Amino acid sequence: MDFSNYIGCIELLYAADNIVITTHINPDGDAIGSALALYNFIADMGKNVHVFLMDSTVPENMKFLKNSNKIKKYVPELHNKYIYEADVILMVDFNNLSRIKLLGNAINNSSAKKVIIDHHIGVDETIADIYIVDAEAAAAGELVYNLIKFAKMNITKDIAEALYVSLMTDTGNFRFNNVRQHIFEIVSELIKVGVKPNYIYNSIYNQSINQIRLLGMVYSNMEVYLDGKLTFIVIDDDMFTKTKTSNNEIEGYADKALLLKTAVVGVLIVELKEKNELRVSLRSRDEFDVRQIAVKYNGGGHINASGLRFHDLTIAEAKEILIKDIKVLL
Ligand code: 5GP
Ligand code: MN
Repeated sequence: MDFSNYIGCIELLYAADNIVITTHINPDGDAIGSALALYNFIADMGKNVHVFLMDSTVPENMKFLKNSNKIKKYVPELHNKYIYEADVILMVDFNNLSRIKLLGNAINNSSAKKVIIDHHIGVDETIADIYIVDAEAAAAGELVYNLIKFAKMNITKDIAEALYVSLMTDTGNFRFNNVRQHIFEIVSELIKVGVKPNYIYNSIYNQSINQIRLLGMVYSNMEVYLDGKLTFIVIDDDMFTKTKTSNNEIEGYADKALLLKTAVVGVLIVELKEKNELRVSLRSRDEFDVRQIAVKYNGGGHINASGLRFHDLTIAEAKEILIKDIKVLL
């Protein structure tokens, strides 16, 4: 690991008065947890700090985190002034400005120093001044933890809870193959400052009755292809309507696609009707690289967990395309 990037980032933060943080669209636990840990850490330094999300709000199950109400859905007329006045902009858990659309344009036009803190492969090397990037890290939160340690700042309980959400969700509750010893060393420290794993787990993963009904449909409609090696889960608009749920309430559902013993690849397709968009999550076991499929359609992610979006396609057409791609690789 290159420590100079951490030091460079800390020097920028110390010299700055105004800081903006952002993360990717449809934020998951790592995105929100990392952004909030950064927010709390920088607020503790006594700086002015804002967090903006493109087209998204904080998912319901993460609202228990301290200061989650400080995270704002980006409104150009209200928020561009903060982006243009910022001394430093931190981008966490993504590495490509196109993922945050309009907000990316504003960031591009700001004279602020930019830092990317990320754990994906394929960083865009033209956008930031400092890169804290490690594709071996299980979560962006792992890198945020390192940053706070390098800054010799306290891991407060608020920071620790945010980091725990980040680590827990990006490792599927510490079971994916991105889990290494270092994760448990960090977790040990987070527990020491007051994190209760059972409370965080229940807050994030326990479900409402509507979500459980949705999950029931998801399981009973699971489709199996290629001798059990490939599973599909589809959540269409009708299922959201019938169960009174939304796409803001399906954290972790993509992982259910790999529940089948024989499955090597699992796909979740979520229909976002108002945007005419299909959000596709790809999950795989072992060496099977789903990222290369995601990249083919301008998506990205990790070898075992990636995502992409289709526009103007029916669910059936999307399925056909993906089955063909996956069949070639299996
Ligand atoms: P999920 O399927 O949970 O939405 O995402 C799985 C992984 O793929 C995450 O690391 C996420 O950041 C990444 N990912 C999901 N959708 C996209 C996308 O449209 N573009 C890129 N570059 N990465 C994505
Ligand atoms: Mn992540």
